Amino acid sequence: MAKLSIRDLDLTAKRVLIRVDFNVPLSKEGAITDDTRIRETIPTIEYALRRKAKVILAAHLGRPKGKKVDSMSLRPVVARLRMLLDGVLDADENVAFAPDCVGPVAEEMSNNLEPGQTLLLENLRFHSGEEANDPEFARKLAALCDLYVNDAFGAAHRAHASTEGITHFVAQSAAGMLMEKELNYLGKAVSEPFRPFVAIIGGAKVSDKIEVINALLDRVDSLLIGGGMTYTFLNANGQTTGKSLVEMDKLNVAKAAMDKAAERGVKFLLPVDHVLADKFAADARTQVFSGDGPFPEDWMALDIGPATVKLFSEEIAEAATVVWNGPMGVAELPAFAKGTNAIANALARNNDAITIVGGGDSVAALHHSGVADKITHISTGGGASLEFLEGKVLPGVAALTDK
Ligand code: ADP
Ligand code: MG
Repeated sequence: MAKLSIRDLDLTAKRVLIRVDFNVPLSKEGAITDDTRIRETIPTIEYALRRKAKVILAAHLGRPKGKKVDSMSLRPVVARLRMLLDGVLDADENVAFAPDCVGPVAEEMSNNLEPGQTLLLENLRFHSGEEANDPEFARKLAALCDLYVNDAFGAAHRAHASTEGITHFVAQSAAGMLMEKELNYLGKAVSEPFRPFVAIIGGAKVSDKIEVINALLDRVDSLLIGGGMTYTFLNANGQTTGKSLVEMDKLNVAKAAMDKAAERGVKFLLPVDHVLADKFAADARTQVFSGDGPFPEDWMALDIGPATVKLFSEEIAEAATVVWNGPMGVAELPAFAKGTNAIANALARNNDAITIVGGGDSVAALHHSGVADKITHISTGGGASLEFLEGKVLPGVAALTDK
């Protein structure tokens, strides 16, 4: 990697500000309902603590829009951090909380840290300067530390004060271990993939995914399409699809993508059968429809059908690299999650391939499928992983110090 890693830094007795992704879901009562994001950052925090750094953790939670919102305080994270750091030296007893992420109190607390101690800062987004990437706010954050580490891959596609601005006021800025892992897996997949390289793109809309489709068409051997965007592609091929989701203003870009695939010799596979529903609801009546004739008028497709599962699974079984973003159907409704689950299982069965899954809804569906532990790399960044696969430069990565 061309950027500094936390492994390149001399951390001993330094105040190290680590930008982490602690944007965890909270219940109405303020309890953490899923601590995956906190757990994924522990290796980086542990690494720094074991090297006698003074660790300062900065994160955002929710969308408080520049104001203090009590229900979006990061304070509940302290107890969970203590739990997860149990057994790491005596780090668990040494986690403090700063009630504001900048200003005199935070500065005093950071100056008083001893090596091996941790300070969690209050929600960065309680200040509008964070998302505005205000240099003054970034400078105040930088005043808390000697070194900066970014381990929040999921926030790296935004140039905010804590991901980009701060790097202008700190001597060295490095990638944390989770950030490094993301960049290694995603980077290798796009730049030097083992072949055959198969990408599966699903989700609701062509408009959300057209850029990643176009970027992947430059690299993959096969591109499999599923989810709601399928029906825009089918309409672009002249098939009518009843009440299925169709973006009529995207027929041209869908057609252009299929032409590009043909020019480049990329195998472009669309679903060959569909699970139709008579309404968008968990208790809808369903039928499987196949063939390239018009769909029954009053029905909508909400999942891929069994023949498509077979077709896609065979393609996945032959792959050496698989990148998957976007569910194959309305996977949040169990009646229409079968296709998505079957594709998750197809990835899991291919032990020889590097399999990478990204995207908020895709990762949630993957966890439901029960085979998440059989996937090589599950990206923690929804939007960030998509932008990375699109070939875009992530501002939070670009801002790190070159090696
Ligand atoms: P990710 O978050 O993994 O990038 P997306 O947000 O692009 O995935 O796609 C998930 C959304 O796509 C879900 O809300 C799901 O309901 C919707 N979706 C999938 N298939 C269909 C379909 N056939 N019709 C309508 N919506 C669909
Ligand atoms: Mg989504």
